[in-house]
Amino acid sequence: MNRKPEDFRRIVVKIGSALLVDARAGRLKRDWLETVAEDLAALARGGRDVLVVSSGSIALGRNVLGLPKGPLLLEQSQASAAVGQIALARAWSEVLGGRGLTAGQILLTLSDTEERRRYLNARATINTLLALKAVPVINENDTVATAEIRYGDNDRLAARVASMMGADLLVLLSDIDGLYTAPPQKDPNARFIPVVERVTPEIEGMAGTVGSELSKGGMVTKIEAGRIATTAGTTMVIASGHKLHPLAAITAGDRCTWFLADAKPGTARKNWISGHLETRGLIAIDAGAVRALRAGKSLLPAGVKRVEGTFQRGDAIRVLGPAGEEIARGLVAYDAVDAVRIIGRNSSDIESILGYAGRPEMMHRDDMVIAGE
Ligand code: GLU
Repeated sequence: MNRKPEDFRRIVVKIGSALLVDARAGRLKRDWLETVAEDLAALARGGRDVLVVSSGSIALGRNVLGLPKGPLLLEQSQASAAVGQIALARAWSEVLGGRGLTAGQILLTLSDTEERRRYLNARATINTLLALKAVPVINENDTVATAEIRYGDNDRLAARVASMMGADLLVLLSDIDGLYTAPPQKDPNARFIPVVERVTPEIEGMAGTVGSELSKGGMVTKIEAGRIATTAGTTMVIASGHKLHPLAAITAGDRCTWFLADAKPGTARKNWISGHLETRGLIAIDAGAVRALRAGKSLLPAGVKRVEGTFQRGDAIRVLGPAGEEIARGLVAYDAVDAVRIIGRNSSDIESILGYAGRPEMMHRDDMVIAGE
C-alpha cells in the first residue's frame, strides 16, 4: 500500500540538525529549508494541521560562538542553543511567512509533556495556534533543560508532541532513508525494512549505536520514538531528508520506513485516564450536562451542581449524574477552590469571577472518558 502524508489529518514533521545545518560552514541550509516549507504549505493548504519539531539550535549556535568541533559540555550546548535558537526561529518564520504561514515558537522541556498539569497548558497553547492556522515550530528548551530533565534528542520529543497533540502522523526526516536490519554503513548485507507492524525487541536490536556528531539521535532514539508514537495511535515514517522537497518525495513513493499505529490517536491517552484508579474528587452535574457529555461535548461550568474534594488542576476526578451515577472520569481544568467559584456560571463570566481567563470548559472532551465508552 502506498501511504502518503496527505492521507493524514494532523502531521508532526521532525527535522534533524544534520539536515538543517551545513556542518562545515555551521550555516543553515536555506535553499533546502525553502523546499520543506513549500511542502508544509501544500499540506496546510489541503486543510492539514502541520507542526514542526526543528533541531539545529546547538549546531547553529556553536559555530557563532566559535566552539571547537567535538562533544560539548552541557553548559556549552546550552549557551549554543541560546544563540542558535534565535536564528532557527527566524529562519522558520521567514520561510513559512514567505508562503503565507505564521510560525509560532514553542520551547518545551521534558516536564511539559510528562506532567499532566503542564501538559494541559502546552497542549492548549499549541491547539490555539493550530486553530488560528499558525504553524507551531517546536524545539526542546535546551537553555534551561539540565541533564536530568532533558530529552536530549528531538526524535523522542517529537513522538511525545505527536501523542500529546493527537497527531495521526509523525514524519522523521533523517539522514538515512529508513530502518535496515543492521546499520548499512557497517553491514553490507543489511536489508531495508519498508514497514514495521510492531516495535518488537527484534526491531530494537536493529538500531546499532548512535549517529553523527550533529544529531543526538541515531536509530536508537528513532525506534524509541516509533514505540512512543505507535502505542499512542500515531503512525510514524522515517524518510530521508537528503533531497529537496522531502515530504513530496514520500508522496511520490520514495523509499521510507512506515511504523504502523497500534490504536486510534487519543486511545492511549483515554486508556491512561480511565486507568486512573485514584481520583481526587468529584463533580456532580445536571441532566442537561449529562446529555451534552453523552453527545460528545465538553463539560461547562454552567452544568455543574456541586464540587467535592481537594483536587488540583489536571487531577483525575469523577463526574456524577443527578442520581449519583458515574457519568465520566477525566482531568479537571480548574483546582477545587476555583471550580467551586464558577459552579453554574457562564463560561464568559469566568475571567471576572476568578480574575484570570481560564478555559471555557470545566473538563475538556479530550480529557474525559465517558463511563461504558
Ligand atoms: N534540541 C537540539 C537542538 O536544537 C537537537 C537535539 C537533536 O539533535 O535531536 O540543537
